[in-house]
Amino acid sequence: MQATTSADEDWLIVKFTDGSILATDDFSDLGRMRPAAAVIYPELDSRLWAWWLTHAWSSLELALASQTAIRGWSLASASTLSRSLLESVAAFWYETRQLGASWGRAKNLPGGEDRPVRVRQELNPRLLKAFRGTRLKASPEFLRAPNVLTWVERLAKDTGVPMVTEWYDKLSDAAHPSSYARTLYSSVTMMHDSCGKAETHFAYSPIATGSLEEDPDSVDAAVNEFPRLIADAWILCTDVLLELLPLSFKLPADFTLTSRALDLVGSPYLRNMWTDDPCPCSCGGAIAHKWAAAFPPLRISQR
Ligand SMILES: [Zn+2]
Repeated sequence: MQATTSADEDWLIVKFTDGSILATDDFSDLGRMRPAAAVIYPELDSRLWAWWLTHAWSSLELALASQTAIRGWSLASASTLSRSLLESVAAFWYETRQLGASWGRAKNLPGGEDRPVRVRQELNPRLLKAFRGTRLKASPEFLRAPNVLTWVERLAKDTGVPMVTEWYDKLSDAAHPSSYARTLYSSVTMMHDSCGKAETHFAYSPIATGSLEEDPDSVDAAVNEFPRLIADAWILCTDVLLELLPLSFKLPADFTLTSRALDLVGSPYLRNMWTDDPCPCSCGGAIAHKWAAAFPPLRISQR
């Protein structure tokens, strides 16, 4: 690693031993004194915030859109959007947990001139997988995202709701032209061991098919159990999301405050991101935002 200020233009440059180069022309007086930090920390910091904001925006958007679909009894949209919400929240939690552990290790690296480089070596591969990861066949190994089931199983385990994986299977079935998609608008389908089938009713929205006055027990609302599953999945996802948003916020916030990334750049960013008291990350003073202080493991509650 080599940090220099170039002669003719005002750039800070870090050359890595593998030949790669990072450089910036946006730095403060403090940045000029700490060139490696000024090149590396604002870059990592802005990527962490981009990761957090993207998760926050897309999860909230899916939560609101699936809520509207559920309320409007738009079952095809509701099941597909709830499935996407479940994947989105599960990935958000999985990556928060992994990046949080990685940042906890990076924060404890010994101080010294090469700390910025070593912090980057710790965080960069995980941040790349988290934010740029893909399942496209042509993608290189370092960008290979985990299977979505890995996220969903982690969510099931850490929330203590094992049926999440079963919900996910059924929501996935409904998102494809498959059995749960074909029975979205039907009453409960019943088949006897002998293959005898009971009458099945189809209706776009629930209707009573019997007469309450004649025989209350014969009333069939022409609806099956699946809409309840969609709603249960939505409730769990939004419940987790409400806990996860402030929890995961602490990760980029602690990075910003510990690395002093904002003080190292010339032009300000992260406007309107901070609260006032007693700590801008809203940890209430529970996290010491300085090097060598612990970054506590992030956990979500068991349901
Ligand atoms: Zn704090």
